[in-house]
Amino acid sequence: MMVRMCFALMLTLAACHPPPETPPDTAAALSRHPDFWHVIDTSADGRPIYAHEHGTGDSAVLVLGSIHGDEAVTGQVVVRLAEWISSEGITPIGRTLLFVPFLNPDGVANHKRTNAHGVDINRNFPTRNWDPIPTQSHYPPGPAPASEPETRLVLSLLARFAPRLIISLHAPLHVVNYDGPAQAIADRMGSWNGYRVSGSIGYATPGSLGTYAGVERHIPMITLELPPVGADDAWLQNRNALVDALLHGDSGKASGMIEGRVFTIGNEPMTRVGLESAPGDMFPLLAPAQLDTVLRRNQGHRMRVFFEGIDPVPEGPALRAIRAEEVPLPETPPQH
Ligand SMILES: [Zn+2]
Repeated sequence: MMVRMCFALMLTLAACHPPPETPPDTAAALSRHPDFWHVIDTSADGRPIYAHEHGTGDSAVLVLGSIHGDEAVTGQVVVRLAEWISSEGITPIGRTLLFVPFLNPDGVANHKRTNAHGVDINRNFPTRNWDPIPTQSHYPPGPAPASEPETRLVLSLLARFAPRLIISLHAPLHVVNYDGPAQAIADRMGSWNGYRVSGSIGYATPGSLGTYAGVERHIPMITLELPPVGADDAWLQNRNALVDALLHGDSGKASGMIEGRVFTIGNEPMTRVGLESAPGDMFPLLAPAQLDTVLRRNQGHRMRVFFEGIDPVPEGPALRAIRAEEVPLPETPPQH
């Protein structure tokens, strides 16, 4: 069959199990890129805690990995996310993205859930229901709320950035869990990664970040629990979900960020690209790179593609490739 990929491209300015390959101390890899990963604090045992800040603006999104040291894959996914956003030339408008891939570097180095003091950071937040008696023996909450430097670092980031969305990665429960007003964001992420979406992790979590930020302070909070897979699979499963949440998450719709739209011109169904779409529907693109997927999966359909709210139009490699493929609309509709 002749490929009838006819479209117009319009650019407008409208607008808990580390895999075997896990290095013993993943922060060492980040130290080799001091221009990208900056030391923002030190752990209980004096290890550097790295972060990358992308974009500027009052609307901040905080992404945390490896709050549990035996979930090093989560940090590796956060590293890939930060580097992908940067390499694609995605320029958020009015938004700061803050990535902290290895919040608990001591636990990562020791392959332990807890920090160097033997405290579960995700039970150490000063929630109203914090209790010195752990709900289970392997969830030690520490001697006092916010007794740990890693916990205090997160509290200081919340105070400084006032994030409108927090995403914390865990493993291996294979669910998009949310606290606070984050169901819409969780549903969107679930439509991309296919994970179950749940407002409850199934057990009480006093002293957790989800309870502290989401339940008690009404900050939209996503706890993304990866399945027990390696970093490559986890990244492939979650790239779209994470980027979508970063670009659209705090409001549930676009707000001056990159917002591409594709819609079919005729009465033709559009292949599922991650979000269900009916004929003629418009749906948001994640980023210019996403267009490649849309076009590939919809060969034979006539589409229009818009980018809106891009200032400036990004010059990432993906968008350059798309421009090179640009095909003018035919005079008459193709016959089917
Ligand atoms: Zn965890």
